[in-house]
Amino acid sequence: MVRELLKNAALRLTNSDTPMLDARVLLAKVMGAENAAMIFNMPNEKQIKTFQEYISRRQNGEPVAYILGEKEFMGFTFQLNSDTLIPRPDTECLVEKVLELNRISSPKILDLCTGSGCIGISLAKMIDKSTLELTDISEGALSMAKLNANELLASDSTKVYSLDILNEEISGKYDIITANPPYIEREIAKNLPVSEYEPMRALDGGEDGLTFYKVISKKAFSALNKGGMLALEIGYDQKEKVCSLLTDFSEVLDFKDYGGNDRVIVCFK
Ligand code: GLN
Repeated sequence: MVRELLKNAALRLTNSDTPMLDARVLLAKVMGAENAAMIFNMPNEKQIKTFQEYISRRQNGEPVAYILGEKEFMGFTFQLNSDTLIPRPDTECLVEKVLELNRISSPKILDLCTGSGCIGISLAKMIDKSTLELTDISEGALSMAKLNANELLASDSTKVYSLDILNEEISGKYDIITANPPYIEREIAKNLPVSEYEPMRALDGGEDGLTFYKVISKKAFSALNKGGMLALEIGYDQKEKVCSLLTDFSEVLDFKDYGGNDRVIVCFK
């Protein structure tokens, strides 16, 4: 019976690349099970109704992560809302590079444009005795970042506050500054399929896609301690342009993601 329910749901998800997986994950959520392979009883009527609602949302193109309200990143579960981007596996490369290249013990970390908080919180979980500040312009994103920090890190060890990086200054001094800012050219961002559900504010990098990098490269340099690191996620075609903004830094390294695209720049003051 459960198989039948899943099969019929998957048949409705013609626009998904992974219809059966989507149906399984959504049914598991409805039934509070670890995964759909663990479901032995037929869901009750109320659960079936919720499941069918989830399937309809998925059928309309809503990403599974938004329907679930969560996404796994670096092995941790982050809560999401419509003001946060869905954390991407490519962004895990940024976190891994920071972990690999950090030379400072007990670092002070600042994550700009934090969204769900996935970058900063993952780093703070994995770097011993680090302190963390998460900033964003979006109140909706900040409420999620706060929730995720409370859930995943020791209570009140993290400062979460509003910072409009384009118009405000960074006030403290840090050893690690990270950012996955909006970096898609405005005209392209408007027509991206993901922009139907993901916040335009988290995608739109201005006319040339570089608005945030131009500002962050300057403000982060001033706010870093000597030897400190700035780590940026970039678009697949932005390496040269972003590197040319980082001439103040003493060492600029670039890295590819798992798909072989340029994705991360790490530089040191
Ligand atoms: N830092 C968050 C992420 O990497 C949000 C990025 C953004 O909103 N541009 O998912």
